[in-house]
Amino acid sequence: MARLFNFSAGPAALPEAVLRQAAEEMLDWHGSGQSVMEMSHRGKEYMGIHAQAEADLRELLAIPANYKVLFLQGGATLQFEMIPINLLRGKASADYVNTGEWAKKAIKEAKRLGRVNVVASSEDANFSYAPALADWKLDPNAAYVHYTANETIGGVEFHWVPDLSGLPGNVPLVCDMSSNILSQPVDISKYGLIYAGAQKNIGPAGLTLVIVREDLIGQAVPQPQTMLDYKTHADNDSMYNTPPTYAIYIAGLVFQWLKRQGGLTAMQKINAEKAGILYDYLDRSSFYSNPVRIEDRSLMNVPFTLKDAALDDAFIKGAQAQGMVQLKGHRSVGGMRASIYNAMPIEGVKKLVAYMEEFAITHG
Ligand code: PMP
Repeated sequence: MARLFNFSAGPAALPEAVLRQAAEEMLDWHGSGQSVMEMSHRGKEYMGIHAQAEADLRELLAIPANYKVLFLQGGATLQFEMIPINLLRGKASADYVNTGEWAKKAIKEAKRLGRVNVVASSEDANFSYAPALADWKLDPNAAYVHYTANETIGGVEFHWVPDLSGLPGNVPLVCDMSSNILSQPVDISKYGLIYAGAQKNIGPAGLTLVIVREDLIGQAVPQPQTMLDYKTHADNDSMYNTPPTYAIYIAGLVFQWLKRQGGLTAMQKINAEKAGILYDYLDRSSFYSNPVRIEDRSLMNVPFTLKDAALDDAFIKGAQAQGMVQLKGHRSVGGMRASIYNAMPIEGVKKLVAYMEEFAITHG
């Protein structure tokens, strides 16, 4: 069986070792005589899987004890709404940083629920950079400050954490980490809330991760919908209703795989090496280009264009013939995009670069 190199932005490639383990455990999990999918979420087998997944995630990210880990559903998109519902806490407005397509979606939803101040934006340069903290026009009375750590479509990543601790207002920092969570260590204590859809670096679609500081829970708008209140989920260990049990099980296997790789410090090194191979080639080539400011380039999503867009289809077809799929860029920007999350092996990146070199020679 030949597995493809899948460069999809999400749902994305999963570690092969995880898929093999899941296959082995599919019909009979650890002698229980049942699949994880069939288990009651209140039974001791599943409760054990759930608790282990949370414990491994806490260890990987060194999550402090005063943060809750919530396993939710509804995608990062539902968080665009749950964040203002839960964190506005009666304040007049929230601050948002606009770095591209995903930030814009978060802003749009927040605007329906409260006042939004866009305190920094890279729209002036077609969303090709991460605005410096010194240029954020922060409001000390804001309910929170929201930013997108990695713009999955634009390929722009913050390689620094906005440190608000010395600034007036003690405003909580909120971050959409959908497309770079678990790619590197992160100081959770700098954040009030972090959220991520699972389908890139965590596991299957259908699971959404929220890591939230306890003091921010329980102050939602008066009478929020039960399911939209973080308190409901925090008070019930993410089991107020049936959680996405199989997705949490697979995420748990991914967390164990990450620990075996050496944790997030090791992943950061590998991710830097993988992205480096691709960007080095892009910068040497006159056939391909990437529009993002060098210091803000994403290690996870690498968009690039060919010098002649008329060659795009041939490029994609040729890649597919060599077992490399999902390289077409997002419909809003065109061109190509190679998503190289944790599960993409370095061989996949090397193979892509070899193919790009060959394609540039034959079509240059
Ligand atoms: N934020 C970012 C940065 C994303 O990449 C995505 C999905 N590609 C979303 C939010 C939306 O996530 P979901 O589809 O899980 O709602």
